Amino acid sequence: MSEMVNEIQVKSVLNKHKRRDDWFLDDYSVNPYEGCAFNCIYCYIRGSKYGENMERTLSAKVNLPEVLKRQLSLRARRREYGIICIATSTEPYMPIEEKLGLTRKALEIILGYRFPVHIVTKSKLVLRDLDILKKIDETAILPDDLKKLNRGAMITFSISTLDEKLARALEPGAPAPMERLETMMRCKEEGFLTGVCYAHTLPFISDTEEEIDRMIKAAKDYGADYAFVGTLTLFGDGPA
Ligand code: SF4
Repeated sequence: MSEMVNEIQVKSVLNKHKRRDDWFLDDYSVNPYEGCAFNCIYCYIRGSKYGENMERTLSAKVNLPEVLKRQLSLRARRREYGIICIATSTEPYMPIEEKLGLTRKALEIILGYRFPVHIVTKSKLVLRDLDILKKIDETAILPDDLKKLNRGAMITFSISTLDEKLARALEPGAPAPMERLETMMRCKEEGFLTGVCYAHTLPFISDTEEEIDRMIKAAKDYGADYAFVGTLTLFGDGPA
């Protein structure tokens, strides 16, 4: 896997959604990178301007710390607390993160402003940041209507299939599904609220009844607090 990455400056890094995401409960998202080295063939961002080979268009938002600090301090002053999903259109823990640490910097800033987070990942590198996530979990301020959640951090593992051979074809750059389940178990052992998002399942390939049953059982066996299944999002026949 290539470690090539473009460095870009952005004007905004905290996206406020028009409405809360029903699945991940986030009101905001932060994507420390553009593109993705995991290069899943079903990824919906292939239909965006980032093109077909997302590994080649991979860019790091190197001014994330100053921009996020500015945007979050404003939201915190107005007490506009809400769950921040990291990430919705990239993988926050791909190999380049080990060197650049942009996701970790984002979490440090989020901790400072006491916002809750929802990590969505396929990577065991998330284990590196459990120290910060633990503090976020204990100190974040939830929006009033989510107070009953009573947790400031959630960690969801994204898996499209448990079939290792199929996964290598669908997600050529991503860690094996079993490694993700084992990482989830570690998060559970550390006391986190954690689970699996089985997405995107492919019609007649990875969405058979037997396969879905196997997926739900595996989630339970590896300590998931929740599991949900998502279908394929079609993105057309080329970059928009
Ligand atoms: S890991 Fe997520 S963002 Fe990256 S290519 Fe796969 S589906 Fe897309």
